[in-house]
Amino acid sequence: MHKIYFENGDSFTPSKIIGVGRNYVAHIKEMESERTKEPVLFLKPNSAICNLEQTLSIPTHLGSVHHEVELAIAIKKEATKISTQQVSSHIAGYAIGLDLTLRDIQSKAKQKGLPWALAKGFNASCPLSKFVETDLELVQNTTIQLSKNGNVMQDSNTRFMIFDIKTLISHISHYFTLLPGDVILTGTPAGVGPLSAGDTLQAHIDHVGTYKTDVDSNW
Ligand code: ZN
Repeated sequence: MHKIYFENGDSFTPSKIIGVGRNYVAHIKEMESERTKEPVLFLKPNSAICNLEQTLSIPTHLGSVHHEVELAIAIKKEATKISTQQVSSHIAGYAIGLDLTLRDIQSKAKQKGLPWALAKGFNASCPLSKFVETDLELVQNTTIQLSKNGNVMQDSNTRFMIFDIKTLISHISHYFTLLPGDVILTGTPAGVGPLSAGDTLQAHIDHVGTYKTDVDSNW
């Protein structure tokens, strides 16, 4: 089983990664999607986890692979049907996650009304940085950016989430019991785009960190 790591040396083995779609208005617009009354959720398996601090290997025979920079949250203790007020005491830490997406495969699935499992859950589709402990209010109002080859592609603020961290985690816990180490990807802002072997990425979230990584095709 793959693990996630904390700056203080702790590690956890997530039972699941829960992704949130359509959580920033500008990203909904660029995808020509529709805003939903409840969060759009999907799962990535534990096997999708890889290390954002190491070279990212992407498939080159499955159509375009898009970058989506996201605030990732790790769960500290079991959470079932918790209220928004209970959320912060259930969080272990925050990291930068890339929700890598096979966009062509996802687009076909969307057209046919089929699940996104392959598009979102393929091997190494969830690079994660180290997790840090910080304050929920700080990471709910902070800069989130991704640069590709020195060009800023994604540049937003977590305060623009449609469903905020407390609402998301409370909502999710009414369907999935969240276990220690489980990871929530809170959605991507606008500016998603394709990756190619040879690209260099820099991902940044204030209060969480800055990580630089290369992309290759040894998937
Ligand atoms: Zn995403």
